[in-house]
Amino acid sequence: MKQIVLSGIRPTGKLHLGNYLGAIRDFVKLQEECKCFFFVADWHSLTTLDDFSELRKNSFEIVMDFLAAGLSPGKCTIFLQSDIPEIAELALLLSMFQPANELSTLPTYQDVIAKKPNKNNAGLLYYPILMAADILAHKAHLIPVGRDQEIHIRVARDIARRFNNRFGDTFPIPQTFEKESIKVPGLDGTEKMGKSEDNDILLTDSPDIIRQKIAIAVTDTSRKHLCDPGNPFICNLFAMHELVSSENTVEEIKIGCKTAKIGCLECKKMLSSSIIDLLMPFQEKRKKFATNPNLVKEVLHYGRLKAKKNAKKTLNEVREKMGLSSF
Ligand code: AMP
Repeated sequence: MKQIVLSGIRPTGKLHLGNYLGAIRDFVKLQEECKCFFFVADWHSLTTLDDFSELRKNSFEIVMDFLAAGLSPGKCTIFLQSDIPEIAELALLLSMFQPANELSTLPTYQDVIAKKPNKNNAGLLYYPILMAADILAHKAHLIPVGRDQEIHIRVARDIARRFNNRFGDTFPIPQTFEKESIKVPGLDGTEKMGKSEDNDILLTDSPDIIRQKIAIAVTDTSRKHLCDPGNPFICNLFAMHELVSSENTVEEIKIGCKTAKIGCLECKKMLSSSIIDLLMPFQEKRKKFATNPNLVKEVLHYGRLKAKKNAKKTLNEVREKMGLSSF
């Protein structure tokens, strides 16, 4: 039996290079070997968004990104979380298997309310249970997520175990999909590129915008003049070269930077070209979907039918085991 893989991306903004290299590129590989479910986690994004006016548009854009990156509705199921209300009912039922006090101690919850105290809503507290329902609805085995989300996989695992102990084997115990951990750094010198950090290269940025963003990106701040040798290992842009440039270019930059033969300007030009080369085929393909939105709607319609059928089956099984099937 094929392993079942499930992962979602929250439509809290446009997708960036970090989302592509750290998530979507793996999805594209996984669809070849596993039974995959990839969804736009629009319910999850409600927990932290201030403004919902762009939500629908962003959700649609993410599906276009999925398709342009190479996800194929023939090989995986692509759907919108809010198209499957069965997930919400399953989350309600699964919440009976989660101690309430643990939710407010999770670091993911604590981090959000530390940064955004006005987001202390019950939906945020409930997030890990909804995520457990996303996973368990499809009886998924492997969940490719960023390291920050691993704690939520643990919650899903615990809920699955408690349910299985009470009602017999129902859910596989989901595991985080172990992959080479990639972290795309921010252009502002911070550790991680993020949707709301203003430090990103969007997948839809034009070559000119890419060049402009890289031109003002933070490098090794101790390197003030072209003749100063730099330290590539503390420079975010070198870390990006390692992710997007050819081996030869990476080696050339490493040596050139350390020996002051290559300045930051030259290094940035080379980085811009590598990123442009990586993103141009994606952007070309994306145009096809942008000019034909019905194609995208069709993918979502087909995905909704498949995901709904699956979630309904699991929900009925859970309802029945919990004494809730209708008369
Ligand atoms: P988010 O934009 O936080 O909803 O991220 C969705 C997924 O994209 C995460 O679970 C990560 O796998 C991936 N991701 C986001 N930002 C980065 C980054 N800077 N570097 C690597 N992967 C990332």
